[in-house]
Amino acid sequence: MTQTVPLLIGGEMVQSETQSWIPVTDPATQEVIAQAPCATAAEVDRAVATAKAAFESWKETPVSERARLMLRYQALLKDNHDEIATILSKETGKTFEDAKGDVWRGIEVVEHACNIASLSMGETVENVARKIDCYSYTQPLGVCAGITPFNFPAMIPLWMFPMAIACGNTFVLKPSEQDPLTPMRLAELFKEAGAPDGLLQVIHGGKEQVDQLLHHPDIPAISFVGSVAVGEHIYRTGTDNMKRVQAFAGAKNHMVIMPDAQKQQVINNLVGASVGAGGQRCMAISVAVFVGESRKWIPELREALAQVRPGLWNDPEAGYGPLINPQAKERVLRFIQEGKEAGAECLLDGSECVVPGAPDGNWVGPTLFTKVTPQMSIYREEIFGPVLIAIEADTLDEAIKLINENPYGNGTSIFTASGAAARKYQHEIQVGQVGINVPVPVPLPFFSFTGWRKSFYGDQHAYGKQAVKFYTETKTVTARWFEDDIASGPNMTIALK
Ligand code: NAD
Repeated sequence: MTQTVPLLIGGEMVQSETQSWIPVTDPATQEVIAQAPCATAAEVDRAVATAKAAFESWKETPVSERARLMLRYQALLKDNHDEIATILSKETGKTFEDAKGDVWRGIEVVEHACNIASLSMGETVENVARKIDCYSYTQPLGVCAGITPFNFPAMIPLWMFPMAIACGNTFVLKPSEQDPLTPMRLAELFKEAGAPDGLLQVIHGGKEQVDQLLHHPDIPAISFVGSVAVGEHIYRTGTDNMKRVQAFAGAKNHMVIMPDAQKQQVINNLVGASVGAGGQRCMAISVAVFVGESRKWIPELREALAQVRPGLWNDPEAGYGPLINPQAKERVLRFIQEGKEAGAECLLDGSECVVPGAPDGNWVGPTLFTKVTPQMSIYREEIFGPVLIAIEADTLDEAIKLINENPYGNGTSIFTASGAAARKYQHEIQVGQVGINVPVPVPLPFFSFTGWRKSFYGDQHAYGKQAVKFYTETKTVTARWFEDDIASGPNMTIALK
């Protein structure tokens, strides 16, 4: 019998009583590997109530103790790294190497959470007025909730609950219903690391469960990562319900290639950044902007892309795995068709991709378009597949203008040998994460993940110092201690005296 995915409530793995289940499938074969429950309203309420009760003692737990929990957790994650990556590969189809990267980038955030004492320090100023001192504390908010996407089932949950919990909050995670087994393993290990019961709850489901969290009066803060349409809904509904919301959304990431760049570096980096993970990364490069003479490299890029073939997660020769589900594949094929019909030239077409031994997988081969205009849907929309668009520009200014007119602002990169061009690009580009000869500039956790414009709704970003701001409230104390009981009469002004 297929395994059913439990909920985690109050430290217990519990079977849901729901009548509604979502199959979790192996995207390379369509085999159903598990059934995920759509948690009932009562179960969601119980998860939040349990987190609320646990908050009462967790918020009083000394910061070093909170840090020690994170230290134990990061050690356990490292010890179980390959096992987590195997679970992840099986439910997402990601190649094992890529799955290990997904886990590793999550572990890095847990390492960062171990520094919570220095990260959460407030500020002090002595003598803000005569014999009056002022100092601030960061205090946790309460029950925070996280809603995560399918494409990084280890890294993105780990962006959220370790930082939130290290700050003194408790957490309700609603992972993607498409790959819930990896987050459940992360949750088991958190418990094994000694997390007190009730710190982390995991509930499963889709829109209904998320909407319940968005309306729940006992949740002050929601973190979301996913598509732009859902992100807008989360941000609007969450803020309408007076919650603090950070919503990381979709992307259309451009790489600018200057003619002075090293050709082979450009091609190698572009191949990995565009079709790696089947293009199912929010920081994937989906548009390459060839400036001036660099356009001559497009045929060689095509040849390099044509060498990459998708395959099974444990095939060491596979460049990437299948798309997450048949609908995702259909959507990508529809875009490829629309691109052709709109007059773009398809230099490499992955629509008919076949992987020997896995005829039912959601395969799409590397695809390359040229002669694309900004009006075409393949340029406007996030495709989220192994489809790269090559656009030509005469100057760097033209490339910058094009990118700044695109509504998304998650990531971008420039490949060049010129410091002046790189400096101009980093300054003028209206995108939150910029790589200079680095194709996928995902910041390490001591910085924050800072997408802009339509790629992010909210103001405090993920991890880094901004996560502490997001998951805490600042309390500022102004204090005076009287040395004698000589009173100087009422102060009738707002000034401190
Ligand atoms: P998705 O928006 O379909 O789902 C994300 C989460 O929202 C899931 O947990 C899902 O159950 C829930 N959800 C889905 N529909 C909902 C609805 N109508 N109301 C409430 N909740 C709903 O995203 P996905 O397909 O799982 O992930 C891919 C998307 O995530 C891409 O657009 C990608 O760019 C984006 N993403 C962004 C970042 C970033 O940092 N900006 C990182 C990773 C992924």
